[in-house]
Amino acid sequence: MEIRYPAYYDTFRCLAGACPDSCCKEWAVAIDPEAEAKYRALSGPLGDALRAAMYQEDGDTILKLTDDRHCPMWRQDGLCRIQAQLGEEGLCQTCSQFPRLRHDYGDFVELGLELSCPEAARLILSGKEQQILVRQETAGEAPDYDRDAMALLLESRGQALDLLKDSRFTIGEALAILLLMGYGVQAQLDGEEAPAFAEDTALHTAKKIAAAGDKDALLEIYRSLEILTEDWACRLETPLDSPWTEAHRLLAKYFVQRHWLQAVSDFDLVGRVKFILASCLVIKWLGGDLLVTAQRYSKEIENDADNVDALLDAAYTAPAMADIRLLGLLLEE
Ligand code: SF4
Repeated sequence: MEIRYPAYYDTFRCLAGACPDSCCKEWAVAIDPEAEAKYRALSGPLGDALRAAMYQEDGDTILKLTDDRHCPMWRQDGLCRIQAQLGEEGLCQTCSQFPRLRHDYGDFVELGLELSCPEAARLILSGKEQQILVRQETAGEAPDYDRDAMALLLESRGQALDLLKDSRFTIGEALAILLLMGYGVQAQLDGEEAPAFAEDTALHTAKKIAAAGDKDALLEIYRSLEILTEDWACRLETPLDSPWTEAHRLLAKYFVQRHWLQAVSDFDLVGRVKFILASCLVIKWLGGDLLVTAQRYSKEIENDADNVDALLDAAYTAPAMADIRLLGLLLEE
């Protein structure tokens, strides 16, 4: 079985105490059953502290955050008490894997890094070591998805990534074309004939149908989501805006790389493309250092399944995410 991963995947090293926004902050970590059993049986002060911090919520075992919203195992020097005493093998699955992503499609596996980790964000948005490497692993379980749909999504994702690199189009234009490309692929996922598609024609159509966008209404959708930090709430209230840059192309590529194939699970590609467009727009509008803004966006949105689901729903129900409004916002920039 093929394992595909960007070259920067192997370069990643946790910043530990030097991390500007530790993953040991704000997130209440869910403990897997194996780690929980280990922690419950652990003797000494560390075992006592772990047992005191664990509680049940919706069937999961969670480590309760401290009053200053850190993991109770976080030390003042920024290191993890469990890792310091038990080594890497003492960590629960969530902590030992983060920020590594593994999407197992049965036939093949894609590895990546989460944008919500500052060091991963630096690697993703640096533009270096972006080539996809391949290694072999023993075959896993047989895939339970539609192989034709996956073949279509793989091919179209490659075209989408090429489009985002194409310097004939501004980033706003490329994203506008991406929406129409998404509709063409969606039609095929729905069993229709492949519609004719050409990027220049798509851009012409996009410009023709675009209507005035409503930036504040789109931001209002984000204000209505689950919010982790006051800083994020404040940033949504006081957007700064910034121009599109080449790094936004890398950002869009990251979202396409990570979310496009997920449509094989429910055949909803258009919702995901609109999620990608809204993500790029909102990150641009919030301005500031792109690396920091994108990382915080990912921590607030991508790492919260409820928020992602809410945006996928809004893609079809919220007027601010109507096709013509998104096109207007992309093409006016
Ligand atoms: S967010 Fe990333 S760099 Fe920071 S502590 Fe966590 S894994 Fe390390």
